[in-house]
Amino acid sequence: MKIIVLKFGGTSVGSLEKIIKVSKIIISYIKKKYKVIVVSSAMSGVTNELLSKTKKIARNFPNDEKDVILSTGEQISCALIAGKLRDLGYMSRSWLGWQLPIITRGNHSSSRIIKIKKNKILNYIKKGGIPIITGFQGVNNDFRITTLDRGGSDTSAILCAKFFKAEKCIIYTDVKGVYTTDPRLTTNAKKINKISYEEMLEMASLGAKVMQPASIQEARLNRIEIDVRSTFSKTTGTTITKKKNIFSNNTIRGISFTKNDAKLTLIGVKDKPGIAASIFKPLYENSINVDMVVQNVSAGGKETDLTFTIKLEDLKKTEKLIKNNIFIKYRKLIINKNVSKVSIVGVGMITTPGITYRMFKALAKKKINIEVISTSEIKISVLIDKKNLKKSVEILHQEFKLNNSL
Ligand code: ASP
Ligand code: MG
Repeated sequence: MKIIVLKFGGTSVGSLEKIIKVSKIIISYIKKKYKVIVVSSAMSGVTNELLSKTKKIARNFPNDEKDVILSTGEQISCALIAGKLRDLGYMSRSWLGWQLPIITRGNHSSSRIIKIKKNKILNYIKKGGIPIITGFQGVNNDFRITTLDRGGSDTSAILCAKFFKAEKCIIYTDVKGVYTTDPRLTTNAKKINKISYEEMLEMASLGAKVMQPASIQEARLNRIEIDVRSTFSKTTGTTITKKKNIFSNNTIRGISFTKNDAKLTLIGVKDKPGIAASIFKPLYENSINVDMVVQNVSAGGKETDLTFTIKLEDLKKTEKLIKNNIFIKYRKLIINKNVSKVSIVGVGMITTPGITYRMFKALAKKKINIEVISTSEIKISVLIDKKNLKKSVEILHQEFKLNNSL
Protein backbone atom coordinates (compact mmCIF):
# COMPACT_ATOMS: atom_id res chain seq x y z
CA MET A 1 0.00 0.00 0.00
CA LYS A 2 1.42 3.40 -1.03
CA ILE A 3 0.29 5.74 1.75
CA ILE A 4 0.77 9.49 1.48
CA VAL A 5 -0.11 12.12 4.08
CA LEU A 6 -1.30 15.48 2.74
CA LYS A 7 -1.49 18.32 5.23
CA PHE A 8 -3.34 21.53 4.47
CA GLY A 9 -2.63 24.70 6.43
CA GLY A 10 -5.13 27.33 7.49
CA THR A 11 -4.71 29.55 4.43
CA SER A 12 -5.10 26.54 2.11
CA VAL A 13 -8.57 25.88 3.53
CA GLY A 14 -9.30 29.55 4.24
CA SER A 15 -12.46 29.78 2.11
CA LEU A 16 -14.98 27.50 0.42
CA GLU A 17 -13.36 28.07 -3.00
CA LYS A 18 -10.03 27.06 -1.53
CA ILE A 19 -11.53 23.92 -0.04
CA ILE A 20 -12.77 22.96 -3.50
CA LYS A 21 -9.22 23.47 -4.81
CA VAL A 22 -7.89 21.30 -1.96
CA SER A 23 -10.39 18.55 -2.80
CA LYS A 24 -9.08 18.49 -6.36
CA ILE A 25 -5.50 18.16 -5.14
CA ILE A 26 -6.55 15.22 -2.94
CA ILE A 27 -8.27 13.53 -5.90
CA SER A 28 -5.15 13.95 -8.05
CA TYR A 29 -3.25 11.68 -5.62
CA ILE A 30 -6.07 9.13 -5.59
CA LYS A 31 -5.77 9.03 -9.38
CA LYS A 32 -2.04 8.30 -8.96
CA LYS A 33 -3.07 5.21 -6.95
CA TYR A 34 -2.05 6.55 -3.57
CA LYS A 35 -3.92 5.77 -0.37
CA VAL A 36 -4.35 9.31 0.88
CA ILE A 37 -4.57 10.40 4.51
CA VAL A 38 -5.46 14.07 4.87
CA VAL A 39 -4.66 16.19 7.92
CA SER A 40 -6.13 19.67 8.01
CA SER A 41 -5.70 22.80 10.05
CA ALA A 42 -8.62 25.13 10.86
CA MET A 43 -9.68 27.75 8.29
CA SER A 44 -7.29 30.70 8.69
CA GLY A 45 -8.23 33.06 11.51
CA VAL A 46 -10.73 30.66 13.10
CA THR A 47 -8.50 29.44 15.94
CA ASN A 48 -7.66 33.05 16.85
CA GLU A 49 -11.34 34.05 16.82
CA LEU A 50 -12.22 31.20 19.14
CA LEU A 51 -9.32 32.07 21.40
CA SER A 52 -10.43 35.68 21.67
CA LYS A 53 -13.87 34.53 22.85
CA THR A 54 -12.31 32.65 25.76
CA LYS A 55 -10.30 35.73 26.66
CA LYS A 56 -13.34 37.99 26.56
CA ILE A 57 -15.55 35.88 28.79
CA ALA A 58 -13.09 35.16 31.60
CA ARG A 59 -9.75 36.48 32.74
CA ASN A 60 -8.46 33.00 33.53
CA PHE A 61 -10.36 30.78 31.15
CA PRO A 62 -9.53 27.15 32.04
CA ASN A 63 -7.18 25.42 29.62
CA ASP A 64 -9.19 22.19 29.45
CA GLU A 65 -12.29 24.02 28.23
CA LYS A 66 -10.15 26.18 25.95
CA ASP A 67 -9.03 22.98 24.21
CA VAL A 68 -12.65 21.91 23.71
CA ILE A 69 -13.34 25.21 21.99
CA LEU A 70 -10.16 25.57 19.93
CA SER A 71 -10.41 22.03 18.59
CA THR A 72 -13.67 22.87 16.84
CA GLY A 73 -11.85 24.91 14.18
CA GLU A 74 -10.39 21.75 12.67
CA GLN A 75 -13.71 19.95 13.02
CA ILE A 76 -15.29 22.45 10.63
CA SER A 77 -12.58 22.44 7.95
CA CYS A 78 -12.30 18.63 7.95
CA ALA A 79 -16.05 18.13 7.61
CA LEU A 80 -16.14 20.63 4.74
CA ILE A 81 -13.38 18.79 2.87
CA ALA A 82 -14.98 15.38 3.46
CA GLY A 83 -18.40 16.68 2.42
CA LYS A 84 -16.99 18.13 -0.80
CA LEU A 85 -15.17 14.91 -1.67
CA ARG A 86 -18.38 12.94 -1.17
CA ASP A 87 -20.18 15.44 -3.38
CA LEU A 88 -17.57 14.74 -6.06
CA GLY A 89 -18.27 11.01 -5.81
CA TYR A 90 -15.49 9.84 -3.49
CA MET A 91 -15.77 7.95 -0.23
CA SER A 92 -14.62 10.25 2.53
CA ARG A 93 -15.35 11.25 6.12
CA SER A 94 -13.93 13.44 8.87
CA TRP A 95 -12.07 11.83 11.77
CA LEU A 96 -11.76 13.82 14.99
CA GLY A 97 -8.75 13.19 17.20
CA TRP A 98 -10.66 11.14 19.78
CA GLN A 99 -12.25 8.95 17.12
CA LEU A 100 -8.99 7.25 16.07
CA PRO A 101 -7.86 7.97 18.80
CA ILE A 102 -4.82 10.25 18.71
CA ILE A 103 -3.51 9.83 22.25
CA THR A 104 -1.74 12.70 23.95
CA ARG A 105 0.02 13.39 27.23
CA GLY A 106 0.97 16.58 29.00
CA ASN A 107 -0.81 19.82 29.82
CA HIS A 108 -3.85 21.12 28.04
CA SER A 109 -3.03 23.53 25.19
CA SER A 110 0.50 22.13 24.88
CA SER A 111 -0.01 18.38 24.76
CA ARG A 112 2.22 15.94 22.94
CA ILE A 113 1.04 13.07 20.74
CA ILE A 114 2.38 9.79 22.09
CA LYS A 115 0.45 7.34 19.94
CA ILE A 116 -1.97 7.18 17.04
CA LYS A 117 -4.18 4.11 16.85
CA LYS A 118 -4.14 2.84 13.30
CA ASN A 119 -6.79 0.17 12.91
CA LYS A 120 -9.85 2.21 12.04
CA ILE A 121 -8.05 4.38 9.53
CA LEU A 122 -6.25 1.45 7.89
CA ASN A 123 -9.55 -0.41 7.48
CA TYR A 124 -11.12 2.70 6.08
CA ILE A 125 -8.44 3.35 3.47
CA LYS A 126 -8.38 -0.32 2.49
CA LYS A 127 -12.06 0.02 1.65
CA GLY A 128 -11.20 3.00 -0.55
CA GLY A 129 -12.09 5.79 1.87
CA ILE A 130 -10.26 9.09 2.19
CA PRO A 131 -9.92 9.97 5.88
CA ILE A 132 -9.78 13.67 6.74
CA ILE A 133 -8.12 13.86 10.15
CA THR A 134 -8.25 16.93 12.37
CA GLY A 135 -4.79 18.32 13.08
CA PHE A 136 -3.79 20.03 16.32
CA GLN A 137 -5.88 17.82 18.62
CA GLY A 138 -6.01 14.58 20.52
CA VAL A 139 -7.44 12.97 23.61
CA ASN A 140 -5.77 12.29 26.96
CA ASN A 141 -5.93 9.61 29.67
CA ASP A 142 -9.06 11.18 31.17
CA PHE A 143 -10.83 11.15 27.78
CA ARG A 144 -10.60 14.92 27.60
CA ILE A 145 -9.93 16.69 24.33
CA THR A 146 -6.48 18.23 24.15
CA THR A 147 -4.66 20.51 21.73
CA LEU A 148 -1.00 20.74 20.83
CA ASP A 149 0.99 23.97 20.78
CA ARG A 150 -0.23 26.55 18.27
CA GLY A 151 0.61 25.60 14.72
CA GLY A 152 0.54 21.96 15.86
CA SER A 153 -1.26 20.49 12.89
CA ASP A 154 2.16 20.19 11.21
CA THR A 155 3.15 17.86 14.02
CA SER A 156 -0.12 15.93 13.68
CA ALA A 157 0.64 15.35 10.00
CA ILE A 158 4.21 14.23 10.57
CA LEU A 159 3.18 11.82 13.30
CA CYS A 160 0.44 10.43 11.05
CA ALA A 161 3.14 9.81 8.46
CA LYS A 162 5.17 8.03 11.14
CA PHE A 163 2.42 5.83 12.58
CA PHE A 164 0.85 4.95 9.23
CA LYS A 165 4.29 4.42 7.65
CA ALA A 166 3.57 6.82 4.83
CA GLU A 167 5.94 7.10 1.91
CA LYS A 168 5.88 10.83 2.21
CA CYS A 169 4.32 13.78 3.97
CA ILE A 170 3.41 16.80 1.90
CA ILE A 171 2.77 20.09 3.66
CA TYR A 172 0.52 22.25 1.49
CA THR A 173 0.75 25.91 2.44
CA ASP A 174 0.54 29.42 0.96
CA VAL A 175 4.21 29.74 0.02
CA LYS A 176 6.06 27.86 -2.71
CA GLY A 177 8.54 26.32 -0.32
CA VAL A 178 11.44 27.24 1.91
CA TYR A 179 13.46 30.22 0.75
CA THR A 180 17.04 31.26 1.35
CA THR A 181 15.53 34.17 3.25
CA ASP A 182 12.10 35.76 3.60
CA PRO A 183 10.95 36.76 0.08
CA ARG A 184 8.84 39.51 1.63
CA LEU A 185 12.01 41.24 2.84
CA THR A 186 14.07 40.97 -0.32
CA THR A 187 13.39 39.86 -3.87
CA ASN A 188 16.84 38.23 -3.86
CA ALA A 189 15.39 35.31 -1.89
CA LYS A 190 15.52 32.02 -3.79
CA LYS A 191 13.54 28.86 -3.30
CA ILE A 192 15.67 26.00 -1.93
CA ASN A 193 15.13 22.59 -3.56
CA LYS A 194 16.44 20.49 -0.69
CA ILE A 195 17.30 21.33 2.88
CA SER A 196 18.38 19.17 5.81
CA TYR A 197 16.25 18.70 8.92
CA GLU A 198 18.95 20.38 10.98
CA GLU A 199 19.06 23.48 8.80
CA MET A 200 15.29 23.67 8.56
CA LEU A 201 14.99 23.37 12.32
CA GLU A 202 17.33 26.32 12.82
CA MET A 203 15.59 28.36 10.12
CA ALA A 204 12.16 27.70 11.63
CA SER A 205 13.28 28.42 15.18
CA LEU A 206 15.05 31.57 14.07
CA GLY A 207 12.02 33.15 12.47
CA ALA A 208 11.25 31.50 9.11
CA LYS A 209 7.60 30.73 9.68
CA VAL A 210 7.00 27.98 7.13
CA MET A 211 6.56 25.15 9.62
CA GLN A 212 6.26 24.67 13.36
CA PRO A 213 9.77 23.92 14.70
CA ALA A 214 8.59 21.04 16.93
CA SER A 215 7.19 19.26 13.87
CA ILE A 216 10.55 19.36 12.10
CA GLN A 217 12.19 17.86 15.14
CA GLU A 218 9.67 14.97 14.98
CA ALA A 219 10.38 14.50 11.28
CA ARG A 220 14.12 14.46 11.95
CA LEU A 221 13.85 11.90 14.75
CA ASN A 222 11.60 9.64 12.68
CA ARG A 223 13.38 10.21 9.35
CA ILE A 224 10.22 11.32 7.58
CA GLU A 225 10.78 13.12 4.34
CA ILE A 226 8.66 16.23 3.93
CA ASP A 227 7.76 18.25 0.87
CA VAL A 228 6.61 21.80 1.47
CA ARG A 229 4.70 23.30 -1.45
CA SER A 230 1.97 25.71 -2.38
CA THR A 231 -1.69 24.80 -2.69
CA PHE A 232 -2.03 27.51 -5.30
CA SER A 233 0.86 26.78 -7.64
CA LYS A 234 2.09 23.83 -9.64
CA THR A 235 5.79 24.49 -9.00
CA THR A 236 7.65 21.88 -7.00
CA GLY A 237 8.41 22.91 -3.47
CA THR A 238 11.22 22.20 -1.02
CA THR A 239 12.14 18.75 0.25
CA ILE A 240 13.25 18.52 3.87
CA THR A 241 15.44 15.45 4.19
CA LYS A 242 18.59 13.89 5.67
CA LYS A 243 21.94 15.64 5.25
CA LYS A 244 23.18 12.71 3.20
CA ASN A 245 20.69 13.46 0.41
CA ILE A 246 21.86 17.03 -0.06
CA PHE A 247 24.42 18.07 -2.59
CA SER A 248 25.12 21.75 -2.40
CA ASN A 249 28.18 23.82 -3.05
CA ASN A 250 27.01 26.37 -0.54
CA THR A 251 28.14 26.20 3.05
CA ILE A 252 25.45 28.65 4.08
CA ARG A 253 21.95 27.59 3.04
CA GLY A 254 19.76 30.28 4.49
CA ILE A 255 19.49 33.54 6.38
CA SER A 256 16.75 34.04 8.91
CA PHE A 257 15.93 36.98 11.10
CA THR A 258 13.63 38.21 13.84
CA LYS A 259 11.96 41.57 14.34
CA ASN A 260 10.48 40.99 17.77
CA ASP A 261 13.45 40.96 20.09
CA ALA A 262 14.39 43.39 22.84
CA LYS A 263 17.86 43.96 24.24
CA LEU A 264 18.49 44.74 27.90
CA THR A 265 21.82 45.89 29.31
CA LEU A 266 22.63 46.08 32.99
CA ILE A 267 25.49 48.53 33.47
CA GLY A 268 27.79 48.27 36.46
CA VAL A 269 26.68 44.96 37.89
CA LYS A 270 28.69 43.90 40.99
CA ASP A 271 30.90 41.12 39.66
CA LYS A 272 30.77 38.16 42.00
CA PRO A 273 30.05 34.47 41.58
CA GLY A 274 26.40 33.64 41.14
CA ILE A 275 25.39 37.07 39.89
CA ALA A 276 24.26 35.91 36.43
CA ALA A 277 22.23 33.16 38.07
CA SER A 278 20.52 35.72 40.33
CA ILE A 279 19.57 37.81 37.33
CA PHE A 280 18.18 34.96 35.28
CA LYS A 281 16.48 32.90 38.00
CA PRO A 282 13.29 35.01 38.24
CA LEU A 283 13.10 35.15 34.43
CA TYR A 284 13.25 31.38 34.26
CA GLU A 285 10.62 31.09 36.99
CA ASN A 286 8.32 33.27 34.91
CA SER A 287 8.91 31.25 31.73
CA ILE A 288 10.74 34.09 30.03
CA ASN A 289 13.10 32.76 27.44
CA VAL A 290 16.50 34.46 27.37
CA ASP A 291 18.17 34.21 24.00
CA MET A 292 21.57 35.87 23.47
CA VAL A 293 23.77 36.74 26.43
CA VAL A 294 27.08 38.63 26.70
CA GLN A 295 28.99 39.71 29.71
CA ASN A 296 31.91 42.15 29.60
CA VAL A 297 34.35 42.45 32.43
CA SER A 298 35.07 46.11 33.04
CA ALA A 299 38.56 47.40 33.66
CA GLY A 300 38.76 47.07 37.45
CA GLY A 301 37.27 43.60 37.42
CA LYS A 302 34.80 44.62 40.16
CA GLU A 303 31.96 45.54 37.90
CA THR A 304 30.57 44.07 34.75
CA ASP A 305 28.04 44.95 32.06
CA LEU A 306 25.60 42.24 31.15
CA THR A 307 23.52 42.25 27.98
CA PHE A 308 20.81 39.81 26.97
CA THR A 309 17.87 39.55 24.60
CA ILE A 310 14.30 38.37 25.09
CA LYS A 311 11.10 38.40 23.05
CA LEU A 312 9.54 41.87 22.86
CA GLU A 313 6.27 40.53 24.31
CA ASP A 314 8.11 39.62 27.53
CA LEU A 315 9.71 43.04 27.93
CA LYS A 316 7.31 44.62 30.45
CA LYS A 317 7.40 41.59 32.71
CA THR A 318 11.17 41.30 32.45
CA GLU A 319 11.73 44.96 33.24
CA LYS A 320 9.62 44.63 36.37
CA LEU A 321 11.38 41.46 37.49
CA ILE A 322 14.80 43.09 37.12
CA LYS A 323 13.77 46.26 38.92
CA ASN A 324 12.21 44.31 41.80
CA ASN A 325 15.10 41.87 42.13
CA ILE A 326 16.67 42.54 45.56
CA PHE A 327 19.51 40.11 44.94
CA ILE A 328 21.24 42.19 42.28
CA LYS A 329 22.93 45.60 42.30
CA TYR A 330 23.62 47.56 39.15
CA ARG A 331 23.98 51.18 38.16
CA LYS A 332 21.71 51.45 35.17
CA LEU A 333 19.30 49.46 32.99
CA ILE A 334 19.25 50.24 29.28
CA ILE A 335 16.51 48.86 27.04
CA ASN A 336 16.55 48.77 23.26
CA LYS A 337 13.52 47.65 21.29
CA ASN A 338 14.95 48.45 17.89
CA VAL A 339 17.03 45.36 17.39
CA SER A 340 16.92 42.45 14.96
CA LYS A 341 18.70 39.15 15.10
CA VAL A 342 20.13 37.99 11.78
CA SER A 343 21.38 34.42 11.49
CA ILE A 344 23.21 32.48 8.82
CA VAL A 345 22.53 28.76 8.81
CA GLY A 346 24.31 25.80 7.23
CA VAL A 347 25.43 22.35 8.36
CA GLY A 348 28.66 22.70 6.36
CA MET A 349 29.77 25.43 8.71
CA ILE A 350 31.22 22.89 11.17
CA THR A 351 33.90 21.89 8.71
CA THR A 352 34.48 25.18 6.87
CA PRO A 353 36.84 27.71 8.42
CA GLY A 354 36.39 31.43 7.96
CA ILE A 355 32.61 31.70 7.91
CA THR A 356 32.47 33.92 10.99
CA TYR A 357 35.14 36.18 9.57
CA ARG A 358 33.35 36.50 6.23
CA MET A 359 30.08 37.36 7.96
CA PHE A 360 31.65 40.06 10.14
CA LYS A 361 33.71 41.49 7.29
CA ALA A 362 30.68 41.74 5.00
CA LEU A 363 28.71 43.61 7.67
CA ALA A 364 31.66 45.84 8.53
CA LYS A 365 32.06 46.87 4.89
CA LYS A 366 28.54 48.28 5.02
CA LYS A 367 29.29 49.93 8.39
CA ILE A 368 26.77 47.78 10.19
CA ASN A 369 27.51 47.53 13.89
CA ILE A 370 27.22 44.12 15.57
CA GLU A 371 25.81 44.42 19.08
CA VAL A 372 25.72 40.81 20.29
CA ILE A 373 26.93 37.56 18.77
CA SER A 374 25.94 33.96 19.42
CA THR A 375 26.86 30.76 17.63
CA SER A 376 26.01 27.10 17.51
CA GLU A 377 27.48 24.32 15.39
CA ILE A 378 25.38 25.24 12.39
CA LYS A 379 24.46 28.89 12.79
CA ILE A 380 25.90 32.28 13.60
CA SER A 381 23.58 35.00 14.86
CA VAL A 382 24.26 38.70 15.24
CA LEU A 383 22.14 41.37 16.81
CA ILE A 384 21.96 44.60 14.83
CA ASP A 385 19.94 47.80 14.69
CA LYS A 386 16.56 46.99 13.14
CA LYS A 387 16.95 49.78 10.58
CA ASN A 388 19.84 47.85 9.00
CA LEU A 389 17.94 44.60 8.68
CA LYS A 390 17.27 44.57 4.94
CA LYS A 391 20.75 45.84 4.11
CA SER A 392 22.34 43.17 6.33
CA VAL A 393 20.34 40.30 4.91
CA GLU A 394 21.08 41.41 1.35
CA ILE A 395 24.81 41.77 1.90
CA LEU A 396 25.02 38.35 3.55
CA HIS A 397 22.90 36.81 0.81
CA GLN A 398 25.46 38.12 -1.66
CA GLU A 399 28.54 37.23 0.40
CA PHE A 400 27.47 33.59 0.75
CA LYS A 401 26.28 33.34 -2.88
CA LEU A 402 22.76 32.33 -1.97
CA ASN A 403 21.52 33.62 -5.32
CA ASN A 404 22.98 30.50 -6.88
CA SER A 405 21.58 28.11 -4.36
CA LEU A 406 19.85 24.86 -5.19
N1 ASP B 1 -5.38 25.79 13.99
C1 ASP B 1 -4.26 25.67 14.87
C2 ASP B 1 -3.59 27.02 15.07
O1 ASP B 1 -4.02 28.00 14.50
C3 ASP B 1 -3.27 24.65 14.42
C4 ASP B 1 -2.55 24.93 13.13
O2 ASP B 1 -2.93 25.82 12.37
O3 ASP B 1 -1.58 24.24 12.85
O4 ASP B 1 -2.66 27.12 15.80
MG1 MG C 1 -0.48 26.38 10.64
